[in-house]
Amino acid sequence: MHKVKEINLIARDYNIEFVLPVGDFNPVEDGNTFIENAYCKAKEAAKCGNGELFLADDSGLCVEALNGAPGIMSARYAPSADERIDKLLKNIKNEKNRAAKFVCAMVLVDKKGKILYETQKECCGKILFERRGNGGFGYDPVFFVTSENKGMAELTEEEKSKVSHRALALNSVLKWIKNEFIK
Ligand code: IMP
Repeated sequence: MHKVKEINLIARDYNIEFVLPVGDFNPVEDGNTFIENAYCKAKEAAKCGNGELFLADDSGLCVEALNGAPGIMSARYAPSADERIDKLLKNIKNEKNRAAKFVCAMVLVDKKGKILYETQKECCGKILFERRGNGGFGYDPVFFVTSENKGMAELTEEEKSKVSHRALALNSVLKWIKNEFIK
């Protein structure tokens, strides 16, 4: 739900609205990369939705000192969002290097599940020592956005929609849709 909200805020400027898939949507995310997992979701969405274009987002947090973890396992790192943050803070407690990045892969398919466009973008930053801010979702409270000099959860929705990994990936997708699809 958070992702759809963020995506529709970004897509507003293009007059495009994304809706969640209808019916039974149970993708098996068995890929080894963000792009592969985004494709798993996109082709599943194409099966259960009606429409022309289906977009999937697979995203996560990669922490340098943890060799890229939690990475594609970000949503499954621990049972709840709070526990995931606690586990992350514990695992990097003794690390000097707190560099991290949010990654967002997006795959756009047609109704047959054929890939039309794919992209992957990043938002660079650091892991904070404690939670900061009330916005966003997931790992946002412990992610410091280098370019903004603020925590991700301290940004307004509008601010996040300009600088996030999701904003960068979606803008690339929206440009493709505008140039190649809506002619
Ligand atoms: P997915 O739904 O399988 O792509 O898993 C994404 C997971 O990565 C989410 O459950 C969050 O834990 C994390 N994540 C992805 N994007 C963001 C973001 O913008 N902010 C905070 N956490 C994020």
